Amino acid sequence: MSSKTYDAIIIGAGIVGSACAAECAREGLSVAIVEAGIIGGGATAAGMGHLVVMDDSEAQFALTRYSQKLWDEISDELPHDVEHDACGTIWIAADDEEMAEARRKEKFYAERGVKTEILDAQLLAEAEPSLRPGLLGGLRVPGDSVIYPPCAAQYFVDQAMVRGAELFPGTAVETITGDGVRLRDGSSICAGLVVNSAGSSSPALTRGLDVKKRKGHLVITDRYPHFVRHQLVELGYLKSAHSLTADSVAFNVQPRKTGQLLIGSSRQFGVEDSRVDSSILTRMLDRAVEYLPGLGKLSSLRTWTGFRAATPDKLPLIGPHMEHERLYLATGHEGLGITTSLATAKLLVAQIMNRETAIPVTPYLPARIPQEPVHA
Ligand SMILES: Cc1cc2nc3c(=O)[nH]c(=O)nc-3n(C[C@H](O)[C@H](O)[C@H](O)COP(=O)(O)OP(=O)(O)OC[C@H]3O[C@@H](n4cnc5c(N)ncnc54)[C@H](O)[C@@H]3O)c2cc1C
Repeated sequence: MSSKTYDAIIIGAGIVGSACAAECAREGLSVAIVEAGIIGGGATAAGMGHLVVMDDSEAQFALTRYSQKLWDEISDELPHDVEHDACGTIWIAADDEEMAEARRKEKFYAERGVKTEILDAQLLAEAEPSLRPGLLGGLRVPGDSVIYPPCAAQYFVDQAMVRGAELFPGTAVETITGDGVRLRDGSSICAGLVVNSAGSSSPALTRGLDVKKRKGHLVITDRYPHFVRHQLVELGYLKSAHSLTADSVAFNVQPRKTGQLLIGSSRQFGVEDSRVDSSILTRMLDRAVEYLPGLGKLSSLRTWTGFRAATPDKLPLIGPHMEHERLYLATGHEGLGITTSLATAKLLVAQIMNRETAIPVTPYLPARIPQEPVHA
């Protein structure tokens, strides 16, 4: 397909691959971006676009915080269609246990320089009048924001192409070879190194990767401007998102700049079928109406599903493959790949260029996770 030898082939133009392509090109590398479908059409199109600092672990905090700062640095240059909205997050406490969790989070963030504000019941009701009465309060994180991810992926691809990257859209990689990739049409592209950033399809290209699909549902409504003002997430979300086995739903609603409401979210393991599951959907919407009773009267426009790419320790794989020295991984971002795409790109390129990384990279190195046995 191409007689040229590139410095790097990026497989997948989701938000992670696109950010990596832009960063490689900025570094002066010659880049080929190979995308089986359309730019940002995978999990990137399915995700919520919440740019959120999280604190499941120090490593998760470090990566999300670093990436959020990178998003803030480029916020002025993002095109209008990326819909960057600095709306902040409110983590909602429904009971004493969740209020204690809000206070724990507040302390954790304060110790690490993230601004937050504890809301009591009255302040919460003032901040979000559509929430049901009787909630105990919450934690406002004003630095969190929201974007429209597919347009961000497109922007990063454009940035890469301005710097000479070549895009191969609608082109599926069949195999990663010793000197590049073989495409499904039988032709090849050669490169010094290959980045597998194919999201939940990454294990199909690199055997033995412990990356599993975690299905999620979302619903988008018609336009109801100011119905909510912040990204609203129940603190119970943290309990359900942690489960590695059970299906779970949690209240998670996002105001879009268009005035629409994006309603999430669900998590299911071991489900390959991408069709909407009406029982999970009903549970998810019932949960949302519990928190926002007025939601039940609004019209929804579309429902869809997507697959998060989950690793066993809920941290992404960023860096060289354990055995193939010319293969790099940028995958396994689970429910935080929109947030952490920019940090991933920086950490990946620093490793490629043998430079020091801005945050310690050890927690994200693929070598930390033993490979699953490969059966021929
Ligand atoms: C319901 C839901 C809600 C979410 N909400 C958030 C959120 O609020 N905030 C957040 O930070 N994250 C969120 N996420 C997670 C986020 O969407 C993902 O982590 C992120 O999109 C992963 O990006 P990616 O580029 O790795 O994968 P993808 O976007 O899936 O991109 C992979 C690309 O690789 C291509 N590809 C696959 N195989 C091949 C092949 N053989 N050859 C060539 N190309 C190939 C695919 O076509 C695809 O375009 C959510 C996810 C879901 C499902």
